[in-house]
Order: sequence, then structure tokens, then C-alpha cells
Amino acid sequence: MTFKELYLIEPILQALEAEGYTSPTPIQQQAIPVILQKRDLLGCAQTGTGKTAAFVLPVLQLLHEQSITGARSIRALILAPTRELASQVSDSLAAYGKYTGLKHAVVYGGVPYRVQTEALEAGVDILVATPGRLLDQLDQGFVDLQQVQVLVLDEADRMLDMGFIQDIRRLLNVMPEQRQTLLFSATMPTEIVKLAKSILTEPERVEV
Ligand code: AMP
Repeated sequence: MTFKELYLIEPILQALEAEGYTSPTPIQQQAIPVILQKRDLLGCAQTGTGKTAAFVLPVLQLLHEQSITGARSIRALILAPTRELASQVSDSLAAYGKYTGLKHAVVYGGVPYRVQTEALEAGVDILVATPGRLLDQLDQGFVDLQQVQVLVLDEADRMLDMGFIQDIRRLLNVMPEQRQTLLFSATMPTEIVKLAKSILTEPERVEV
């Protein structure tokens, strides 16, 4: 199977070629069509399976296909448990999205606010964040999540282990209820199944 057979568009295919990727991994083959159909997804996948591209590629495509007029707004939010993972996702957005014209920013703790708020003020289409720092930014009025159409929870089991569930619930309260939600987790303990039930609508389940 090729990326083209997954109906990915030219600007993304070009970026994948530049990365040297020749064919999609199993999680990519399964998840990309579901996400492009704007369906909710529950993905059970470990790091190393290509799960980041499995959601980054179709999210880039969905946003690229919308014509926007006026200022940019955060249309996709990707939540990750740690700054390392958030910055990896950000690197993937930069690499795979380089021909799309979409802008992204990343927000995580442990660095001065100024750098991150400047990026936000310039306007972004996609925000990658760790939950705690994002709530801080929200409370200070730097972030508006009311235009979010796609929410991704990456490594949801780790976010729960790290005690982010209350933060995630607070963030959900300031986002539109009508949105596409993608939840990725390496394990599926009861708490994840419960969270999935409460935030996903008729999700497609994908497992590798
Ligand atoms: P991840 O599971 O998202 O952490 O990705 C693991 C590694 O696989 C990353 O270094 C990616 O750059 C790489 N990768 C992702 N998708 C592909 C692909 N289709 N072909 C080759 N490498 C890939």
C-alpha cells in the first residue's frame, strides 16, 4: 500500500517523500481513512508504530482542505503528557506540514511564557500542549479553544497516570462539544475505557 492510496494530498505526499517514507505503517493504514472521514477514533498503539504520523497527517489534511478567511484560530489541539512528547509531535507537524502553509505552536511547562505566547499571538492553526501549562495559558487569556474542531489525546494512559484527568476535563469544558476526537493509548485500562466512553462518539477502534 502507498500513501497515495490513502488519498493523502500532494503537499503531504511531497513531505513524506522528503522524509524518505515509502509506505504507511499498519496503524497509519487503519487510522488515516477513519480520521479523513471525520470520525472519532480510539487507537491502541505503542510508540514506534508510527502513531504520530497516523494522526498528524490526516489532521493536517483536514485543516488544509478548509478555506479560511481572516485570522487563524486553533482548529486542532493535540494534548501530550510530557514536554518531550509534545516537542516530538511539534517536530512531526513541522516536517509533514511544511508544504501546507499551516502554522502550529507548542506549549509546555518549564520554559518562559514569553516565547510561547508570542507564537500564539501570531496565530496558529494547530496547538500542541501539555495539559497543565495549557490551562495556565488559558487562565491568563492567551489561548482560545472555542474554534477547536479536532482534539487529539496522545498517550492518554500516561496522561491519566500523571494525574492530568482533571486538567483534561477542564479543557474539554472550554472546547466545542461538537468536534472530532482521537484518543491514542498504549494500554486500555478501565479508566481509559471510561474516558473514551465519555468523550468519543461512536469511535472506530484501531489496534496494532
Ligand atoms: P512514532 O511511533 O510516531 O513515535 O514513530 C516512530 C518512528 O517511525 C519515527 O521516527 C517516525 O519518523 C518513523 N515513521 C513513522 N511513519 C513512518 C513510515 N510510514 N515509514 C517510515 N518511517 C516512519
